[in-house]
Amino acid sequence: MNAIQTHLESIRATIPQGVELVAVSKFHPIEEIKTCYEIGQRCFGESHEQELRIKQQELPNDIAWHFIGHLQANKVKYIAPYISMIEAVDTYKLLKEINKQAAKHNRVIDCLLEIHIAKEETKYGFSPESCRELLAGGEWKELKSVRLRGLMCMATNTDNTSQIRSEFQLALQLFKELKSAYFSGEDYFNVKSWGMTHDYKFAIEEGSNHVRVGTAIFGARTY
Ligand SMILES: *Cc1c(COP(=O)(O)O)cnc(C)c1O
Repeated sequence: MNAIQTHLESIRATIPQGVELVAVSKFHPIEEIKTCYEIGQRCFGESHEQELRIKQQELPNDIAWHFIGHLQANKVKYIAPYISMIEAVDTYKLLKEINKQAAKHNRVIDCLLEIHIAKEETKYGFSPESCRELLAGGEWKELKSVRLRGLMCMATNTDNTSQIRSEFQLALQLFKELKSAYFSGEDYFNVKSWGMTHDYKFAIEEGSNHVRVGTAIFGARTY
């Protein structure tokens, strides 16, 4: 086993059953993705459309690619044919565009609503209030080529674990609220995507079942 495989195995060993591990491979070369693929990893996260396009063309078709970054509406058409999940839907306009492009390919694309709970100003996403408003509006129900699977969020980048935990708790509360208001009995609304390298252990303790881990697997990114 090489170092990346060792890291991947040790993370897998600490993650409970039922928690999906998205290996965040952005800025890492195709060879390193292959190394994970060889030991069974099939779910990878990328955040730039052009980089993803190249990797998707070169790598096996049974990889589930998750788009985890901010996605511009004019880029949706490029990933619509193959993307497995779009995790960072942060406007209704984007959701409509995904729906339109998915329909062109006779697909239904799984999406998560990105909610903004962190303290940082610059992050994308719906506030809990605007997320509630979107769902209450009901218009989204007409979008038959997207399927809302759950919520995604990032905690504040801090060493203050109680702050991180309380942000994840807010996300979980919102998830439960929306689930019971709009998706009760819909098994597919079941994705709670929170937790990255520095906080995925807390995230899982706070109800996450979908963690997005890059650095702990591949090492630091060079941008
Ligand atoms: C880059 C990225 C990650 C992975 O971050 P690491 O700290 O390397 O684990 C997770 N989620 C999103 C949205 C990202 O952009």
